[in-house]
Amino acid sequence: MNFTRLRLAGFKTFVDPVDAPIEPGLTGIVGPNGCGKSNLVEALRWVMGESSFKSLRASGMEDVIFAGSSSRPARNHAEVSLTLDNASGRAPAPYEAAAEIEVSRKISRGLGSAYRINGREVRARDVQLLFADASSGARSPSMVGQGRVGEIINARPDQRRRILEEAAGIAGLHQRRREAEQR
Ligand code: ATP
Ligand code: MG
Repeated sequence: MNFTRLRLAGFKTFVDPVDAPIEPGLTGIVGPNGCGKSNLVEALRWVMGESSFKSLRASGMEDVIFAGSSSRPARNHAEVSLTLDNASGRAPAPYEAAAEIEVSRKISRGLGSAYRINGREVRARDVQLLFADASSGARSPSMVGQGRVGEIINARPDQRRRILEEAAGIAGLHQRRREAEQR
């Protein structure tokens, strides 16, 4: 599955709606310091279900909402949508037959986050499992952040095993087993 489109509105520096097509192959993001390059990558992790605001350089989840500037008032919502192409039909169930999968996350001040997959409201867990089954996701080895390579080298064996399980796309099975055991 390839990412084909990223849409943002009200997320950090992206106060106005931005609709960014993601072409096949390598994509580079260039711009001066502070223009929002890292924010864009954080938006990608956020829509995939990132639950740690610290890893988004924020001091609370609502910090991802545009906080206002000297010329513009703050926003009350932030929304990010990510479109995945499923021409390969390799999307995990129950999305295997969908041509495209659109995952969106919206946060409103005081109300928390709401997730949708192809327009249907879902839980954070559904979004996290979708990406875990596809061997991607906010914490997966497919997102290589600064310092991550050193972290993997220095990881304890059990931590390294978790990374390998995420790469193999079986991390979601552990979560399902934990949940089944709690029932
Ligand atoms: P560098 O080249 O230095 O790595 P960058 O392009 O990666 O820069 P970012 O770190 O993505 O830049 O953007 C930082 C900017 O985002 C800062 O100016 C910060 O004030 C702004 N910012 C972060 N959160 C918000 C928010 N909630 N509302 C408005 N602006 C925000
Ligand atoms: Mg940066």
